Amino acid sequence: MNKEPVSRELFDEVMVPNYAPGNIIPVRGEGSRVWDQEGREFLDLQGGIAVTSLGHAHPGLLGALQEQSEKIWHLSNVMTNEPALRLAKTLCDHTFAERVFFANSGAEANEAAFKLARRYAWDHFSPEKHEIISFKNAFHGRTLFTVSVGGQHKYLEGFEPAPGGIHHADFNDLDSVKALISKEKTCAVVIEPIQGESGVVPADPEFLKGLRQLCDDNDALLIFDEVQTGVGRTGHLYAYEMYGVIPDILTSAKGLGGGFPVAAMLTTAKVGASLAVGTHGSTYGGNALACAVAQKVIDTVSQPEILKGVNERSEKLRQGMMAIGERYGIFSEVRGAGLLLGCVLTEQWKGRAKDFLAAGLEEGVMVLVAGADVVRLAPSLIIPETDIDEALERFETAVKKLAQ
Ligand SMILES: *Cc1c(COP(=O)(O)O)cnc(C)c1O
Repeated sequence: MNKEPVSRELFDEVMVPNYAPGNIIPVRGEGSRVWDQEGREFLDLQGGIAVTSLGHAHPGLLGALQEQSEKIWHLSNVMTNEPALRLAKTLCDHTFAERVFFANSGAEANEAAFKLARRYAWDHFSPEKHEIISFKNAFHGRTLFTVSVGGQHKYLEGFEPAPGGIHHADFNDLDSVKALISKEKTCAVVIEPIQGESGVVPADPEFLKGLRQLCDDNDALLIFDEVQTGVGRTGHLYAYEMYGVIPDILTSAKGLGGGFPVAAMLTTAKVGASLAVGTHGSTYGGNALACAVAQKVIDTVSQPEILKGVNERSEKLRQGMMAIGERYGIFSEVRGAGLLLGCVLTEQWKGRAKDFLAAGLEEGVMVLVAGADVVRLAPSLIIPETDIDEALERFETAVKKLAQ
C-alpha cells in the first residue's frame, strides 16, 4: 500500500457506513493543535472525545511508549506482566479499589463490571438476583450487553433480542429507582456520575448518596461508569471523589491511555473475588505497551497541580463560552465539571448542535456535540491557557457567522 494521501471518498469505498466522518483529514497533532492534510491548523477542544487527556504527542507519553516498545509489547495472561501490575498497583493506591481487571475499551470494562455484578450475586445470594438497574439516556458502550444496559433504545433497534433482566430508571429521580430495586432481584445499579453522550448531565450529589444507601439496603452493587468522567476529566482523578460517594465497581477507559486503547475495571477485594480463575478474560487486556502508556498518564494526571490546572482551565473555558452564549443568545447554561463541559443551546437553537461543530471547523476549532442540543467540550487536561483564548476567539467568529 502506498502512502499517498487518502481521500474522504475512500471511506465510502472500504468502510462499513456506521460513521459519517467529515471532509477534514487530520494527519498530525501537537499539544492542543492538530493539522490536516492541507496544513490547516485546528485548536482541539474535542480531545478525541475525552481521550487525548494530555494532548497530542505529549513528550512523556512518547517516551513511555518508545521505552516499552523496545522491551516487550505483549504477553499472554498466562505470564506475570510488569507494566500491568505496576499500573494496577498505582490505580489501587490512588483510589478506593483493591483489585483491577484490564480491558481495551469502555464497553469491555463495563461488560466485565456487569458480568462481575451478576456473578457476585450468584456467589453470595441467588441466581434470581441478576437484575441490573440503569438510567434512561445512559451510555455504556456498544456490545450487546452494554448497549442493552444503556438507556437509548434506538441503539438496540434491529439487534434484539437483548439480554434480559435490565431496567431503566429516571436519572436524578431516586423514587424511580426505589420503584425498581429489590433485595431479591437487583444485583447492581449502574450510573455515569455525569451522563456524557446524552448531554453532559451531572448527577445531583444527594441523588448519588441516595443510590449508595439504596444499594446498601438491598445488597446491590453500585457501579460508576467513569469511562468519560475519569482520569482527571472533572478536576479529580475520578468523579466519585467529587461526589464523596464510593462505588463498589468503577470502570475507566477513554482518557486512561491518552490515545492508546486501554481500559480498567476497579473494585474491592471482596467483590473482585467473584471473577475467579477462568470466569472472564481478555487477550489484549493488560497489554504491556498499553499499560506502560497508561502508567505515564496516571502518574502525570494524578499530580495535584495538574488537577488544579483542570479546574482553572475549566473556569476560563466555562466563562468564555457563557459570555459568547450571552452575546449571541445561543446558550442557556454551561454545565458539567472540569474539562467535560456541555453548552446547552437555547430554545431558538435547539436541535442545531451539529451546525456549531461544522461552523467551528470552518474557523479552525474542533468542538463536539452531545445529542442535538448540547455543544460538548473535552479538551486536553493541560491545554495551554493561550490556546483556550484562541479557541474561544475562533468559536466566536464561527458563531457570529452562524447567527448572521
Ligand atoms: C465512551 C463511553 C463508553 C464506551 O467506551 P468505548 O471505549 O467506546 O467502548 C462507555 N461508557 C461511557 C460513559 C462512555 O462515555
